[in-house]
Amino acid sequence: MAQIVIDSIRKEFGEFTAVRDSSFTIEDGEFFMLLGPSGCGKTTTLRMIAGLELPTSGRIYLDGEEISQKPPSQRDIAFVFQMFALYPHMNVRKNLSYPLISQGTPRAQIKAKINEVADILGIQDILNRPVGGLSGGDRQRVALGRAIVRDPKAFMMDEPLGALDAEFREHMAEELRALHDRMNATTVYVTHDQLEAMQMGDKIVVMNNAVVEQFGTPQEIYDKPATMFVADFIGSPSMNFLRFDGIVAEGATTVELNGASLGVPRQLEGASGNLAFGVRPEHVTLTDSGLYRAEVLASEYLGTTQIITLATANGELKARIDSARTVRIGETVGLTFDARKITLFDENSGAALR
Ligand code: ATP
Repeated sequence: MAQIVIDSIRKEFGEFTAVRDSSFTIEDGEFFMLLGPSGCGKTTTLRMIAGLELPTSGRIYLDGEEISQKPPSQRDIAFVFQMFALYPHMNVRKNLSYPLISQGTPRAQIKAKINEVADILGIQDILNRPVGGLSGGDRQRVALGRAIVRDPKAFMMDEPLGALDAEFREHMAEELRALHDRMNATTVYVTHDQLEAMQMGDKIVVMNNAVVEQFGTPQEIYDKPATMFVADFIGSPSMNFLRFDGIVAEGATTVELNGASLGVPRQLEGASGNLAFGVRPEHVTLTDSGLYRAEVLASEYLGTTQIITLATANGELKARIDSARTVRIGETVGLTFDARKITLFDENSGAALR
């Protein structure tokens, strides 16, 4: 069992704040993603959970017990460093035994544990081979095995697949996720790759500039982005923002944009000033009857779909449509938007209107 509660943690390095009052909860057994661009504070957050860095303020709880200031050795959390950090001259069994020997575990128990872990990872047949000669995939499995043998309460992983080429990376990502589903151990995983986070995570924290922008399931984050940063960072191509200066009344179900009345989810709060109409490329349809007009600038063929770039009175927009639909560069088309999937934003704060 391992539930991890992060309560307003902050990390300052001198004048610089790397993590600013972050709060979120990682439930027992979750595969939890810390996602964000380079330098946003993901690794620092992970290191604070593992105890490799102490928070300047705030608290961390593991199963209800406060661990904020405890050394790593008293936290029972395994930090999976670079996957390739193994002893190349030793065989697999020795590499796996090492953490247990240094803990003073009895021999018979070590043997049983290694057999169990080798079964989980499917590496029984390579136990006596030296690590130096193994394939990349097998090395990754052994590196994971070294973290698993200690039976920690939770695993911390910092871009474990970062050094791999795309194809192999995808394969290992699937394997990691399948392994997690078998073991159900709480895992916190750092990545800057939004696709990886969406595919693997039960929950995602999106960070930017030392701040948690949003925390939720992949679907919540995709469908209901809390900020323009999240909307832009998640999805490819990312969400379009049609910029307008206007008024949205409380309870409104439409907004006026460039002479067209466009449907939006019912607004709980009103707003005015610099606003943005957020729509994902797959929620745009080209229709002759659409009152919102746009000019086709370019088309990119992707097999079953194509990405059309359009010029509108409110800025450039990308639409993902069926590739069977022919479009001519320079042609004027009408657009309709899936009203249920629209998010309105206040441009000044970057926050979504609710
Ligand atoms: P990356 O993917 O590039 O590792 P990240 O989101 O994991 O990015 P962190 O490694 O947490 O980011 O770093 C956040 C910021 O804190 C960076 O600007 C980094 O330079 C700074 N930082 C991290 N560790 C220290 C340190 N020990 N001393 C000073 N600054 C640090």
